[in-house]
Amino acid sequence: MSMADKPGVIWFDGKLVPWAEAKIHVLTHGLHYGTGVFEGIRAYKTDQGTAIFRLDEHISRLFGSMQILNMHIDYDYQTIFDACREVVRENKLEHAYIRPICFYGDDQLGLSVKNVRTRVAIAAWEWGEYLGKGSIENGISVHISSFTRHHVNAAMSKAKVTGHYINSTLAQQQATAGGYQEAVLLDTQGFVAEGSGENIFIVYKDKLFTPTLSSCLDGITRDTVMTFASEMGIQVIERNISRDELYIADECFFTGTAAEITPICQVDNRIIGKGVPGDLTKALQKKYYASVLNQDPTHAAWLSFV
Ligand code: PMP
Repeated sequence: MSMADKPGVIWFDGKLVPWAEAKIHVLTHGLHYGTGVFEGIRAYKTDQGTAIFRLDEHISRLFGSMQILNMHIDYDYQTIFDACREVVRENKLEHAYIRPICFYGDDQLGLSVKNVRTRVAIAAWEWGEYLGKGSIENGISVHISSFTRHHVNAAMSKAKVTGHYINSTLAQQQATAGGYQEAVLLDTQGFVAEGSGENIFIVYKDKLFTPTLSSCLDGITRDTVMTFASEMGIQVIERNISRDELYIADECFFTGTAAEITPICQVDNRIIGKGVPGDLTKALQKKYYASVLNQDPTHAAWLSFV
């Protein structure tokens, strides 16, 4: 079954349409030039019903991405926020991955976006462990990609733009062809930037380190983990991280909405720490699932029930 062939409905330009009918023309601007912005959001089944995690922050980032691209849509923040809840509800999903996307349509081709309408779609479906079965529990192996992450003045890394992801796809393909589960990309100066679709952390001598935001996405899970760390009294340091600091880390993990908190147990065929998910990584995972599953009253405000 392809992605185009599922039961259910998709919110498309203001209304719910049958899944198979949410189609666009081949001469769509976004398809040719990568001129779209999107989000990846997760909803979890809790004992009080399905709740979307940090929806507010995701919709804010979506509007921030549009601001960076100077893109405008016909819908306000609240409409998009409510539409995300609606697609989960209408598709009767207990847990879901939600994908809002805003992209330039087919009014004209050529690089100019003047007079090109922005289309908006929001789909939701069930999506399990992003980096493969068992990745959350057992961890994964990664390699340092030969593809460099975008220069800060070439691609706008604070915008989650569709066209940026060719760099991610190249790195991801190279990693899996080499037998690794994911890639780590370095920035143009040679420091660790992020995974193809995840932020990265290392634990070293009981402190957490993560790259500054200069060439990575301002990840919402990254922020979640930093919040947990401060609650646990663990210092988080944002600074340049070199490739060999990953090799000697006590623990290493990715964060992302899709990847959640995925332990990294091998980097470039070197065993990291004890070669199994570390204690701090596991403690952060525990706090993460307690939050998303509405078992942690401290962070109840992060949940939007559908
Ligand atoms: N970096 C990139 C390149 C990503 O695509 C993602 C996923 N959105 C992340 C980091 C993690 O961001 P978040 O935690 O907000 O999902």
